[in-house]
Amino acid sequence: MIDRARLEAQFAHMKAISGFGEGPGIYRMAFTDADWQGRTYLMRLMWEAGLSLREDAFGNVIGRMEGTDPTLPAVLFGSHADSVPGGGNFDGVLGILAAIETARSLTEEGFRPEHPLEVVLFLCEESSRFGAATLGSRAMLGALTVEETHRYRDKDGVSLYKAMMARGLAPDALGKPLYTGPVKAFFEVHIEQGKVLEHEGKEIGIVTGIAAPTRFRVRLTGSADHSGATPMELRHDAACAAAEIVLAAELLAQAESAPPAVATVGMLQISPGAMNVIPGSAVLGVDVRSIDAAVKTRVAKRLQTRARDIGARRGIDVDIEPISDERPAVISPKVLDFLEAVAKDSGCSYRRMPSGAGHDAMHWAERVPTGMLFIPCKDGLSHNPDESAKMEDILTVTRLLEEVVRRASRRDTHLE
Ligand SMILES: [Zn+2]
Repeated sequence: MIDRARLEAQFAHMKAISGFGEGPGIYRMAFTDADWQGRTYLMRLMWEAGLSLREDAFGNVIGRMEGTDPTLPAVLFGSHADSVPGGGNFDGVLGILAAIETARSLTEEGFRPEHPLEVVLFLCEESSRFGAATLGSRAMLGALTVEETHRYRDKDGVSLYKAMMARGLAPDALGKPLYTGPVKAFFEVHIEQGKVLEHEGKEIGIVTGIAAPTRFRVRLTGSADHSGATPMELRHDAACAAAEIVLAAELLAQAESAPPAVATVGMLQISPGAMNVIPGSAVLGVDVRSIDAAVKTRVAKRLQTRARDIGARRGIDVDIEPISDERPAVISPKVLDFLEAVAKDSGCSYRRMPSGAGHDAMHWAERVPTGMLFIPCKDGLSHNPDESAKMEDILTVTRLLEEVVRRASRRDTHLE
């Protein structure tokens, strides 16, 4: 049985595993000591749940419950446990703890699945350390190259390659799929990270599609002149160009409505950063999302064109560096119907909804039947120390996941 006290204790334990940062919240960024401590704890829980553990070259952890027919494709379910700086205790953590509790509950009742079951802990889901998201699932599926591990760097200049080597992992093994077994389905439970479910008083969201980010960096190089001695018409002020680009991002995303797009310049650095010097250079980090690939590409392309035009007009060099371009995921009608049937039978209230945030599930959705379940989070807050979810909702979705996995593990359940 899904055990409330056990889950409560595990959430409390994960909350205590954090490094130090500038403000409140959890600091468990990928491959840091705190992240590794969390991973070790979760591996212990997987072991206690009766799973046999293995890890791949990226550090992703897989706990397997053997099926009565071990040659059948496995049913995978899980999430991540790394956090953004100053993050909350539910993003990712909910999904992995719900998955482990599901396995443990099934083990305790002596359940024997026909298809093998595998709980997956994905590493490095958050982009906050290396600027690119869902790297663990990409690595598993062969969509992360060795070259990228050299290119992705954190703010201290440490490459992903180096961070992995420091953990005894094998970045040189990337580029081909690390997960090679047959897969029947993948399921992930997550907090909504938005306000829709809370607003509508629904317990469960059945995700219909996952918006994926396109990210790029815009480097602007003007000239850093004296702020007093340089008249306005002789300036090449990189901060002014950056300001125009920020507003262009807002306008271009606002222009899309069916389906909508969002664009964010969440990173903006101005140099040299002195009050008496005209900003000679600026770097912007841009993130564009939509559940429709064409809409997303249109916004990103238009914004890049606008950035170049703005630069040309102001005599500023514009260099655009792509960071990532993930494809949005569409969830198959068959999986939606399957999840809806489980939700209906459980008597919980639910609605179908898109996911604005990216998740590990989006990479699986391209390859195998994939489903995601959301629960509400307080005030829609996420990536925030005040991120919070109700234990009642956590129990509801964990029970639902248990039933989803139980049914999916049957040979006569067809999800394709
Ligand atoms: Zn997450």
